[in-house]
Amino acid sequence: MIVTIDGPAGSGKSSTAKKVAEQVGWHYLDSGALYRTWTLLYVMGGMDLALFEEVVDVHDITLSVDKHGTEPLLNGEKVGDSIREQRISEHVSTVSTLQAVRDKVNAEMRRIVQKHNFVADGRDLGSVVFPDALLKIYMVADLDERAKRRFAEMEKKGIPASLQEIKDNLAARDATDSERAIAPLTKPEGAIEIDTTQLSFAEQVSRIS
Ligand code: C5P
Repeated sequence: MIVTIDGPAGSGKSSTAKKVAEQVGWHYLDSGALYRTWTLLYVMGGMDLALFEEVVDVHDITLSVDKHGTEPLLNGEKVGDSIREQRISEHVSTVSTLQAVRDKVNAEMRRIVQKHNFVADGRDLGSVVFPDALLKIYMVADLDERAKRRFAEMEKKGIPASLQEIKDNLAARDATDSERAIAPLTKPEGAIEIDTTQLSFAEQVSRIS
């Protein structure tokens, strides 16, 4: 079984999904982490996008599942917080437009959903990947508020960042994610929309659980 939470970056999806998963005893699935790991591979490879798409099938990015949630493995190796760095955020929306990458990510998510129950967050989960999800949420918030939240998160993790850079990156990703031809960010049919701009974290969680 799966509950999906889609929406733009920084709208509160991941923290809310994690907490709801914990409350109901399910696992948390971070689909963005898979796209970020494919992007890490792209950045490490230093090749152009068209060439990268051709080698996607040679690699495997999987999710290992334990009681704390899921963790991406790049050809079997953990990637840790390296996928959260700004250099990855800068390229992830472009890499996510590749059909070959989306096919690999979707196949991996559908594989692990056969084995566990998940609260998952992403951009196209309720619309494309799991249209028959038990519950679909579409979470939104104002850009300024989302930038502030992402900045605080990065500071907490000790990852260097500037508020303006984060805001610009969120705006650019919003545009690429919602304007792309394949699986654009959109409110899934049948989803409940929650605007978290004025909501506390506890209020966000209580709207779902
Ligand atoms: O969730 P997060 O902000 O880490 O996602 C990073 C990027 O991965 C998004 O900006 C989007 O380009 C891509 N993504 C996607 N589809 C998903 C999840 C993430 O295209 N289901």
